Order: sequence, then C-alpha cells, then structure tokens
Amino acid sequence: MFLSYFRFMKYCILAIFIFLTVPTLMAQEETTYILKGLTKGPLPYLEYGLGEDRLGGAKMTFLDTNIVVQVVDSMNNRYKIKLSEYHYGWLPKENFIPDSSIPIHPFYLTNDWRVYGDDRYDYVTIGLDGKLPYRSMQEINPSRIVVDIFGATSNTNWITQLSTAKEIKNAYYIQLEDDVFRVIIELKHPQHWGYSISYSNNKLVIRVKQQPPGLSLSKLKVAVDAGHGGENIGETGRRSGIEEKVYTLKIATELEKTLKNENATVFMTREKDTSISMIERVLLLRTQEPDLLISIHLNSSDIDTVRGASTYYRYIGFRPLSQFILKRLQELNLEEYGNTGSFNFGLSGPTDYPNCLVEVAFLSNRADEKKILDAGFRKVVAVKIVAGIKDWLQSLQ
Ligand SMILES: [Zn+2]
Repeated sequence: MFLSYFRFMKYCILAIFIFLTVPTLMAQEETTYILKGLTKGPLPYLEYGLGEDRLGGAKMTFLDTNIVVQVVDSMNNRYKIKLSEYHYGWLPKENFIPDSSIPIHPFYLTNDWRVYGDDRYDYVTIGLDGKLPYRSMQEINPSRIVVDIFGATSNTNWITQLSTAKEIKNAYYIQLEDDVFRVIIELKHPQHWGYSISYSNNKLVIRVKQQPPGLSLSKLKVAVDAGHGGENIGETGRRSGIEEKVYTLKIATELEKTLKNENATVFMTREKDTSISMIERVLLLRTQEPDLLISIHLNSSDIDTVRGASTYYRYIGFRPLSQFILKRLQELNLEEYGNTGSFNFGLSGPTDYPNCLVEVAFLSNRADEKKILDAGFRKVVAVKIVAGIKDWLQSLQ
C-alpha cells in the first residue's frame, strides 16, 4: 500500500514536471529567432553593440550581401543577429531583407579548401553549406589574416595549396568553438596589402592582395580622396569662413600632381565640387583596385588652441603608412595631433588596400588656418605626403 502510493506520487511529480518543462522548452525553441533573412547592400556591416558617436557605432565587420542571418532581437534601427552559440552582432535594419523561406540548418559544415594565385591576388576558397556571416582581423609580427566563420563546424579534410599562390605562406584552421571556425592565413611579407571577402555561390572566397613586385611609386596606383564636396561642405574656417571641401580638393589636386611627377598612376574620387557619399566612394574605389588610398581632410575643434597634423587608420596592418606620412608632415612646423588607430571613418573601413586618412591641420586654429590659406603650404603638404609614402615603400625593400 505504501509502495504503490509512493509510485503513484512519483508519476504525479513526473507528470507535473513534464507539464511544466516541455512547453517552456518548446517556447524557448520558438524564440531562438524572430525573423530570418538575408543581408542586403550596398555595404552591409555588423556592429558589436549599440554604441553611437559622430562616426557611428564600432564596427565588427563588413559583410557580403545575401548572407543568411537570424534576428533574435530588435532595438531602434538595429537588429540583434545570432552569429553562433555565444556570439551576437547588430545589423542596421536597412541592411536586412526578411525571407521566411530560407531553411535554417541545425549545423553547417565546412568543406575542402583551395589556395592558389593569379598575377595580382592569391585566393583561399572554402566550401560551405550556406552563406554564413564572418568577421576578419589583421595581425602583425607575424603578418596574418584571421577570418572567423560563424555557425560553421569543420568537415575540412584537405586543403589544396598551389604554387601559384605568391603571398600566402600557409593557410590552416582551428575550430575555435564548436560553431566558430577560424581561418588563419599567414603572409609572406610583413606588410599587409589588403584582402576582400565575398561569396561565390556557397564558397567563401578570401582574396589576398600580393605585395606589388615593384615597390616604387611609378609602378603603383594611388587613389586620392578629397574629403566632402557638393552639398557636404565639411568644416569651415573659424576666421576666414572657408569651406573644408574646397581646400581638401586643392590639397588633393596638389597631391595628384606630385604623385604624377613620380610617374604614379593616380585615381581621384572627385576632381570637382561634386556630392559623393561615403558608400559611393568605397564602391567606386572597389572598381578601381588601387594599391593604396590617401584621404585628405581638414580638422576642427571647439577649442581653438587645439592644432596640428594627424593621420588615421583602422586596421593595425595599415598603420605604418600613416606613421611615415605623419612624421613627414611634422617637418612643416605642424604640431603633432597624433596617429590614431581603430578609427571608425568610412574610408578607413575597406580592408582591400592600405589606406591613410590625413587631417592636415585645424581650420579652427588661427595659426593652422593661416597655413591652410597659403598655396605654398598646400603644395609642400603634398610633397611631404609623397615623401611619407616613399619612406614607407623604402622600409619594405
Ligand atoms: Zn572632413
């Protein structure tokens, strides 16, 4: 009697337990994502969190379009995206297109790789079950490109490496977490010359720029970007009222001339007072495939004693170029405002080529403004920037 009562109670407790937990588990299953869809262009990106400042939030990565993403939350103009079991990112809503027909697999596998080159680029191609999100990093000493593929588990059983690859020394992977697959690409040269990541069907393609064979300006294509333009006037001179867009173009044009004197091939993002958005500039530069990019801007501060030259980069592998240029600019009796990294500026964003933003001097400072107004100064700024590029190239010989 006692035993059967005990057994009855046990079943009751079990029934109550199942009654309480199963619906909860099912509910959890249903709320793993609220929307599924694809990234859409022109330049989708992920941010780490919801931080904002005048340059926007800190970016984790730019992404290709048509990448499968699962939305788990929504906040203002951002969707929270589940990247893997323990990783999330935030996607601007304008970069998302819902598509409920996309199948979400319980897991995604990687497939075989191929490493090869042509006369300008090396390639790593990785077969995948679907277009998964990724992020990338540059490392120095030794120089490596690291790409994390989110949601991917290794079924890579061979990596074919051809001798046509000239820049990639080694390519291999580690399964960082059960669903985070890390691709490691070791470079032959200490200098990063850039890379781009995209999908070709379900194959992830990492295109790595080889170090150019001739490290002389006469063999390189330099893109020059004059900041602002058209409706976007930029800052204005505190005393003179001059518009930044006019003077960035004047300096950029001097830079173009000086580079051409060195027989460099030059591409200007604008040559007139035209409106061109940051996204348009990035896409335009993508079609031009320059070896490096210099962006010209003029700085401004609420504090009028702040002055001097500064250079900016986002990725550590591109830092040396900006250091050499700043060093040369300081020969112009310009104070050092500094060399700034992780800079969240639109044209510091591309990983495709080394790039440097130059903020020549401050429009808000009396002494700097006077210099900017002087045509002779603008000419010599161009000479010093070119000298900085040449110092950088020399350091790579
Ligand atoms: Zn500016």
